[in-house]
Amino acid sequence: MPTLGAVPLDFRDLAPAAHPLERLPEEWADVLAAWGQPRYRGAQVFRWIHQRGVFDAAEMSDLPKALRAQLVDEGLDGSLPLGVAKEHRASDRTRKLLVRMGDGADVETVLIPQLEKDPDVDEEDRDTDRGVGLRPSDTVTQCISSQVGCAMGCVFCASGVAGLTRHLSAAEIVGQVLLGRCRLEPSERLRNVVLMGMGEPLHNYESVARVLVLLTHPDGIGLSTRRVTVSTSGLVPQIDRLGRDFGGQVQLALSLHAVSDERRSAIMPINRKYPLSELVECLRRYPLPKRRRITLEYTLIRDVNDDPREADALAALMRGLPVKVNLIPMNPIAESELAAPTWKGVERFQAQLRARGLTATVRKQRGAEVDAACGQLALQGPDGERRARTRRLPVAKG
Ligand code: SAH
Ligand code: SF4
Repeated sequence: MPTLGAVPLDFRDLAPAAHPLERLPEEWADVLAAWGQPRYRGAQVFRWIHQRGVFDAAEMSDLPKALRAQLVDEGLDGSLPLGVAKEHRASDRTRKLLVRMGDGADVETVLIPQLEKDPDVDEEDRDTDRGVGLRPSDTVTQCISSQVGCAMGCVFCASGVAGLTRHLSAAEIVGQVLLGRCRLEPSERLRNVVLMGMGEPLHNYESVARVLVLLTHPDGIGLSTRRVTVSTSGLVPQIDRLGRDFGGQVQLALSLHAVSDERRSAIMPINRKYPLSELVECLRRYPLPKRRRITLEYTLIRDVNDDPREADALAALMRGLPVKVNLIPMNPIAESELAAPTWKGVERFQAQLRARGLTATVRKQRGAEVDAACGQLALQGPDGERRARTRRLPVAKG
């Protein structure tokens, strides 16, 4: 049975690996044992792929020659089921990769250097919330996509407006990290992976669960489970399953965005299926480890959800739950006229949350000039044209 750090996982329910890139060491061992090889070679092959980033078995120098040839025939010939079609680099070193799948479907993944204090800036001139006096560090967070488009239809989100084209396979999701790692600078290190790109990760549960095991496997990329974040619009049964399967170890981020059912349903149709009362109950039973908190993402939209009274209601709704709030001033999308509040409005909302005893940070806009900010992971074709349908979005204001 695969294990995830100290957490034993029962993956008998998961669909079998469909591609060599998504096989776990134990699954490689099964394949190799059937070829008459010792089982320990399974971990060897896995390490070559996931730890060392070698996809051509011909280069796996500690394997017998005949086995290398057999693995090449099996598909480990250096090719991947996805590739980087375009790379945009912003001045803050944020890199957005347009990743093209075998069938031509495009998604995006973003490499985001974490910010650190710039020692050349005086302490009194620094404003951490606004990102003033900070500089990009060598510690990188990668944001990855889990679907082509998204079925959830949130009105403020480019992926939601486009609708779902298809799920990504585990190989296509983990492949984004393998490709991203090749593009790190020598001094940079991948520390966090967030499933906050295109798509609703928990709508593609089977593949995402497999990816979580692949990313955190000690013989592979070896990320700490705490450093992998699944962001969800609130699919209650799948949040429960995630909690069960991973013992609450994976970091959970819930996209809240509104604190009344009326308002939330108007901007996030999924709320009609899983209303706030069910969502809050679900968060209460999430098996969160001690001293850890659930992240609440709250995209601030002018005149829709930015009234400081909503901050009061948020605090009341979440009373007794270990949460921290991450405020995201809405990034403009071509398909909607909705917009962020003024900076003063953002500060007012943050101050109100803090006055109610909640930790509240403002997400710094990174890579905006390359359209790589949250919700802007739009469907752009090779010619740069938006493929998303353009329509006016009805939304209850005020
Ligand atoms: N589907 C998942 C994860 C992908 S979206 C989810 O919804 O949580 C990642 C985050 O970006 C979510 O919190 C989402 O609400 C937010 N987001 C989407 N569009 C945005 C926009 N235009 N501006 C700011 N944040 C946005
Ligand atoms: Fe999907 Fe998340 Fe966008 Fe909503 S915000 S449409 S759930 S990607």
